[in-house]
Amino acid sequence: MNHRSLAFRLGAWYTLLLSVTFVLVGTGTYYGLRQYLHSNLQDSLRRRSTEVEQILVQSPADTPDSAIAQEIKLRLAPEANNRFVRLTRAPGKLILLSGPPSDGGFNSLAVAARVAPGAIRSNSVFATNIIGDQHMMVSARRIGTASGQYVIETGTSMKPIEAVLDRLIDLLAILLPSLIICAAGGGYLLVKWALRPVDRLSRMAEQMSLQNLSLRLPVVPSGDALERLSISLNNMLGRLRDSVQTSRRFLADASHELRTPLTVIKGELQELSADAPLMSAELHERVGSVLEEVARLEHLVSGLLALSRLDAGEALREPADVDLAVLAKSTAEQMRLMAEDRGIVIDLSGLGRAMVRGDQARLKQIIVNLLDNAIKFTQPGGTITLRTAEDDTAGVLEVLDTGIGIPASAIPQVFDRFFRVEEGRSREDGGAGLGLSIVKSICSMHGADIDLHSELDRGSRFRIRFPRRLAPVHELASQG
Ligand code: ADP
Repeated sequence: MNHRSLAFRLGAWYTLLLSVTFVLVGTGTYYGLRQYLHSNLQDSLRRRSTEVEQILVQSPADTPDSAIAQEIKLRLAPEANNRFVRLTRAPGKLILLSGPPSDGGFNSLAVAARVAPGAIRSNSVFATNIIGDQHMMVSARRIGTASGQYVIETGTSMKPIEAVLDRLIDLLAILLPSLIICAAGGGYLLVKWALRPVDRLSRMAEQMSLQNLSLRLPVVPSGDALERLSISLNNMLGRLRDSVQTSRRFLADASHELRTPLTVIKGELQELSADAPLMSAELHERVGSVLEEVARLEHLVSGLLALSRLDAGEALREPADVDLAVLAKSTAEQMRLMAEDRGIVIDLSGLGRAMVRGDQARLKQIIVNLLDNAIKFTQPGGTITLRTAEDDTAGVLEVLDTGIGIPASAIPQVFDRFFRVEEGRSREDGGAGLGLSIVKSICSMHGADIDLHSELDRGSRFRIRFPRRLAPVHELASQG
């Protein structure tokens, strides 16, 4: 999982949790407010019925019904207060029925028809009913006084409460999605911000290779596991660098040390073979074949030495402006004899100015290795073409031959160290499979891309694009 998808996942979880919280808080607020408003309304209705009860209890038994009704109307002013009041004396004598409320919130007659006195079972029961299509809350209680059994019903319209709750729903419908969107955006940014050091660490780690092991990961001064991780990784890189340098030094020293005895052996053998009359023909032949092996060994050792120096980053110590056309021409002239010996023509007509910045000796090595292969793997009568050109961004070098080509299956490996397409076809020519890996190493030190196109029995084309300016990383690599 890369850091982006990690940020995305963490952000998504955070958003989900926050969204669930928002929804729960929203729903809780709605039901809490609803409950609060309902119980407030119930209290208010309860107080009204208590007032009516007091009037009834305090009225003497012979008080006329109209006087009781008048007293209740006076004290409660139900129409002005948008309240419903109905007072009934058992077994069904209607004493008071409030008129239409001033806000027109309900129809008193319709309410009166719904709550029957029989529905109230005992004196102490207080019942609250929400009358469906009238949107009302009605409480009813039964009391007994000296003048008889009464049912007091008080009620009110639910419309004001519903209006408040509807407004709350509208508000939540706007607020919740906006909060969730903000939470999602904020969550993603937050997680991205928190993962930024990891992002920097991984980008830095991607830049690292065996060529620039001196680079270090940025240490995040967070005081947590991330800081410890970056410090441990840097320590590990330090140890890795030391061990790579030790093995590089060993390879360079070993190759260097091998050169002297090899030169001595070669010299002795050459002297021996020059002194031909002293030797039998068979011995002469044997010395000749040992000399061939020594030459191969020399080639191998100098290849190893070149690679170990390249690995140590020596290539770009002194970069200079080099015209690839001039370099290719002079190198080809030096190797022309070798080609002509094998009946191969070198075509230099495609050499155009191609200024690049780099190490002249190393760039020459590229041309030598590619030309050497082209000569080795092209039959007599074939042609090798060298081309150079430049555009705004790159200098391009191409080496083409009409030789035996490279099978498609081997192309991805030809730049690997010690890789030979067929042991036979290059061993005969003294190849150890290092030539193209040296080319590749020099190219990467110059920030150049190498591209190979080859067809069996038709030939090969190596194309290298050198950047006009060296990227800082390559200059860094040279110091690594
Ligand atoms: P070597 O030094 O043994 O030639 P290289 O690394 O230069 O090794 O090449 C690797 C292999 O790629 C060689 O064994 C050879 O078979 C193949 N090769 C390289 N250049 C060419 C070419 N121009 N034509 C055909 N085969 C090639």
